[in-house]
Amino acid sequence: MVDVIVIGTVAMDDIETPFGKVTGALGGSASYAAYSSSFFTKTGIVAVTGEDFPREHLEILKKRGIDMTGLKKEGKTFRWGGKYKFDMNEAETLKTELNCLDHFNPIIPKQYKNANYVLLGNIDPELQLKVLDQLDNASLVVTDTMNFWIESKKDKLLEVIKRSDVFVMNDGEARQLFETVNLVQAAKKALKLGPRAVIIKKGEHGAMMFTPDSMFMTVGYPLENIKDPTGCGDVFGGAFIGYLAKTADLGEMNMRKAVVYGSAAASYNAEDFSLNRMKDISLDEIEKRFHEFRQIKEF
Ligand code: AMP
Repeated sequence: MVDVIVIGTVAMDDIETPFGKVTGALGGSASYAAYSSSFFTKTGIVAVTGEDFPREHLEILKKRGIDMTGLKKEGKTFRWGGKYKFDMNEAETLKTELNCLDHFNPIIPKQYKNANYVLLGNIDPELQLKVLDQLDNASLVVTDTMNFWIESKKDKLLEVIKRSDVFVMNDGEARQLFETVNLVQAAKKALKLGPRAVIIKKGEHGAMMFTPDSMFMTVGYPLENIKDPTGCGDVFGGAFIGYLAKTADLGEMNMRKAVVYGSAAASYNAEDFSLNRMKDISLDEIEKRFHEFRQIKEF
């Protein structure tokens, strides 16, 4: 039994930031998101990886108790290369090798079918739709995406958003997808498609959540040591849905707390490459930063 299903990529990443470089590191939207969700609740992955995917990477996910029944292995692993300059809010994509993602047909394992919470992590929107088609009555579907899919499969992505309860994107993606420089207008356009809430992440500057009749904003955690922001968006989504699944409360105030939990978890992830920093922490550390967020905003 799992409470949260995460679909996305399980990747090998080649990353360069002003603070270092890694090659073939454990990455992918599903890896980051499932890892983060698993601090809160039992999480299962639906993804594909290649025969070349290192065993040590898999062990890291398994060690956190993530259910891997939905992970297929075939061909060559999805590989992403990205580079950050001193403005770490925006990655420059150097390569996207879809490899095994090209022929992936996601199947939700029987033992995941009762999961009420589904995170459609960053992956081909056609695959997100295939997952949705296999689910009858999830309580909450949260969707994330990336510029690559906005450019190549916008129509399919809009279909996914229409069938989602919460749509999460970063500021650059919001501007690109809704063709406006104004984030409030972008959020309104996204809400018109149907989700009950739209979240716009602004990297180190925090996140905003919009519903048809409310607006919520949180700051970003003032990090002193940042090495690599890769995966922060996915870690945000994982903690957001994991916390909601754990508390089973989809009221507005609890959704706001989930945004802060997402931001707290994501702030840890930026402190090191790959999942290295997340491997060191427990839910206690995430709770600690959650409370610091409260203090920072008090006046
Ligand atoms: P984030 O920094 O949260 O946007 O996500 C970074 C992760 O997304 C990396 O670990 C990549 O492996 C993965 N990724 C990069 N491009 C794509 C893509 N087009 N589709 C799915 N996952 C991707």
